[in-house]
Amino acid sequence: MSEKLVTILLGPPGAGKGTQAKRLAGRFGYLHVSTGDILREEVRAGTDLGSRVEAIMNSGELVPDELVAEIVGKKLARDTGNGILLDGFPRTLAQATYLSRISNGAPPVVINLKLEDAEVVRRLNGRRHCRGCGNIYNLYYSEPRKEGICDSCGEELVLRPDDRESVIRERLRVYRDQTQPLVDYYKTEGRYGEVEASGGIREVFDSVVQTMSRM
Ligand code: AMP
Repeated sequence: MSEKLVTILLGPPGAGKGTQAKRLAGRFGYLHVSTGDILREEVRAGTDLGSRVEAIMNSGELVPDELVAEIVGKKLARDTGNGILLDGFPRTLAQATYLSRISNGAPPVVINLKLEDAEVVRRLNGRRHCRGCGNIYNLYYSEPRKEGICDSCGEELVLRPDDRESVIRERLRVYRDQTQPLVDYYKTEGRYGEVEASGGIREVFDSVVQTMSRM
């Protein structure tokens, strides 16, 4: 992998990593890599990999490090534009070590999107995905124009299987156990900043950009 700037969005499920990553990638011309999106696409397409990871994802557990590392390694081997924006990766210390190895040890920029558990549960319960184009809506603050239908492509909007409340609780537990330790790791190994993610999409985006400009 060439020595491109790597930016990592950390934060619990529902903190808005995907939403902010899309906007940041657009603003700065970064390659947006979402391991969750890549894995969901494998499931949707019914590939071998997809069938191996579907049950794990639906239960809120993490997919094995080796599988995710392989996916990310392949993706980053390509030409990567102005930089790389990682959304949902790394999620374990083993993944962070792998990333450090393939990016020749250059310190990443790490933005931790902070959000209280109660708000995580509320947001994810209200989140709906388009079956067709993957657009994301939220019943609390970004409803589609017509209930249950995607504004962009007209397909049906669905609740992700892992956005059910029981699974959200498990994802939060997994986040705390396996991903939270990356905060301390990146406080020493990266350029680390925190952003309060409870505000609106635009407000959080502005805070992220401001925080990045100070790092
Ligand atoms: P996300 O869309 O980022 O919330 O990811 C959805 C699910 O995909 C997670 O709950 C995991 O099961 C799996 N997943 C995504 N990224 C990773 C990763 N870096 N390591 C392990 N599992 C992952």
